Amino acid sequence: MKKKKKRIIDREFVVLVVAFVFILTAMSRCIPDGTARLSLGHSNVGEKAISLTFDDGPSGYTEKLLDGLSEYDAKVTFFVIGSKAEKNPETVQRAFDEGHLIGNHTYTHPRLTLKSVDGAKEEITQCSDVIKNITGVKPFFVRAPYGDVSAYQLKKLNTFFISWSANIYDWDEDSEDEIYERIMKKADDGEIILLHDTNEATVNAVLRAIPELQEQGYEFVRVDDLLTRNGDKLAKGIPYRKCEFEKSPFAF
Ligand SMILES: [Zn+2]
Repeated sequence: MKKKKKRIIDREFVVLVVAFVFILTAMSRCIPDGTARLSLGHSNVGEKAISLTFDDGPSGYTEKLLDGLSEYDAKVTFFVIGSKAEKNPETVQRAFDEGHLIGNHTYTHPRLTLKSVDGAKEEITQCSDVIKNITGVKPFFVRAPYGDVSAYQLKKLNTFFISWSANIYDWDEDSEDEIYERIMKKADDGEIILLHDTNEATVNAVLRAIPELQEQGYEFVRVDDLLTRNGDKLAKGIPYRKCEFEKSPFAF
């Protein structure tokens, strides 16, 4: 009798241990190495939050942007081009040290749909390696140049591509005022705004818009913090794709 009871207890213990290991494994898949801030349910983010994302840098204007972001205590995401990051590692390192998120925007900024899956993978891997060499951390998010990536590539590449919900169309010929007006018009809770730190007018417009929007109660947060604000609940309509973390060739 006694023996039988012991065996039942043993079985319960084994079931508990297996369940515990299973939960831990499931959690670890959601928290990849080097992206400790991307966690389930992480939330210091308030009710009115915006993610500004800057593509195509670093450029000669990025340092000015960083100065302003530091002054206003605003955090953003930079989707850097690997070949440019390689030439300007100090700026990437500074952005990383100051708490901004560094994302992958490929090594040479090609249209990925014109590449094979292997070609696209090489572009992403090369950029990832450059960022890792500078910051010590592999980028978790990838933004496809021109937002151009095929459904087939998405499936095969299996990484976390992040797009945007609001495009400011901050072309070089646009004035600071025009860009500023567009930012103010698009600003809303949960927006992921596409901008370029390669454009001086953009940098000036952003640094005008930030304090005004902060006055209105908006907080500027990295894209990972926005996405995980409510346990990974996304604002409606944001095109994104979540990879299966454990299989991603880029996330680890
Ligand atoms: Zn781009």
